[in-house]
Amino acid sequence: MRFVVDTDLCVGHGRCYTLAPQWFDCDDVGYAEIKDVVIGAGERTQAEDVAAACPEGAITLVEK
Ligand code: SF4
Repeated sequence: MRFVVDTDLCVGHGRCYTLAPQWFDCDDVGYAEIKDVVIGAGERTQAEDVAAACPEGAITLVEK
């Protein structure tokens, strides 16, 4: 699994990288960046929760 962030929807308020700094970082102005790490099968529920926590619906979880 991996995350995809729709940069047209991201407004940069930072819930993703606050909730899951192991998967997300931010750029210089606060927009989300996805870290190049593997999401394990056992982390699916947590990953789905992080995606759902984005108020803009900018985060999608997709199969690799
Ligand atoms: S929570 Fe959503 S809108 Fe906020 S920085 Fe992360 S991806 Fe962008």
